[in-house]
Amino acid sequence: MSSKKSRILLIYTGGTIGMMKDYVSGALKAFDFSQLLKNIPELNQLDCTIASLSFEYPIDSSNMNPDHWVAIAEIIGSNYGEYDGFVVLHGSDTMSYTASALSFLLENLAKPVILTGSQLPIGDLRTDAKENLITAIQIAALQEKGKSVIQEVGLYFEYKLYRGNRTTKINAEHFQAFASLNYPHLIESGVHLSIFHEYLLPKKKNAVLKVHNAMDDNVAILKLFPGINKNIVEAVLGAKDLKALILETYGSGNAPMEDWFLEKLKFAIKNGIHIINVTQCSGGAVLMGHYETSSKLKKMQVINGKDITTEAAIAKAMYLLGSGVSNELFKTVFETSLRGEML
Ligand code: ASP
Repeated sequence: MSSKKSRILLIYTGGTIGMMKDYVSGALKAFDFSQLLKNIPELNQLDCTIASLSFEYPIDSSNMNPDHWVAIAEIIGSNYGEYDGFVVLHGSDTMSYTASALSFLLENLAKPVILTGSQLPIGDLRTDAKENLITAIQIAALQEKGKSVIQEVGLYFEYKLYRGNRTTKINAEHFQAFASLNYPHLIESGVHLSIFHEYLLPKKKNAVLKVHNAMDDNVAILKLFPGINKNIVEAVLGAKDLKALILETYGSGNAPMEDWFLEKLKFAIKNGIHIINVTQCSGGAVLMGHYETSSKLKKMQVINGKDITTEAAIAKAMYLLGSGVSNELFKTVFETSLRGEML
């Protein structure tokens, strides 16, 4: 452990975690983050210095969009030299999308960016916010031989740190609101913090952070269901300026074999639309060609999403389109793990 105190920047974007109960009126109101240490004196016990900044207008995470993702990435970029770690406080509803997007936007990240939030406001008696916040800060402050232990975008919730781009929100009620079904968690918080070093992204040497700032939102998600008809498929594939479609298929990447369906996909691909096969199962991977119902997709150059989450797939598609990857290279690059988001 280094003797130097880690400097942590807390970025409040909105969400339940930032609410406090006014004990006079009983109403929930936005928490003043400049008063953070005063309101949560426990933070004084942490062996790090904490600065905070807040979105001018904190938002419910249902209102997050790619401009916000870029804004968060740029805040991290412009404060990168001053701090050893970043904690992003965020509503839980779309936290997995933001975590995925940040993982792509922050290339060569060598410091921790930990997203956290809570199911109950920080001022609530039974809140999960304090534990999530305190441990997220502790994790962001972890140093070994003067280097950050975590050098990636993580998501901390209910005693576990996950790789952010592997997570999905799975429960609107339980404190354990997130899961990472295709990748083990990175840290578990018990009496001690158990760090599973073998699952962390490798440490980067002399990495220079590159902050990307373009996301192309000409993308869509189409979840297959028995009975999906021509009009629906046609409407989605015919959307103006559509460039990439995340196709949520069955099981290990299977889709109906009806001619009209396959012809529509083939036609779209011929017209330059990237179609990415992602399973609608919460765990497991696409294995195109395993069944007859997926071998046709493979033949027509549908992109293999392997074990990527839908959240990471949509963020990756926006990022690759925004970064101007050529149409010829898009499939190869998409099928390559860039930030540990897929096999
Ligand atoms: N609707 C809230 C949000 O995502 C829920 C939460 O904060 O957990 O902003």
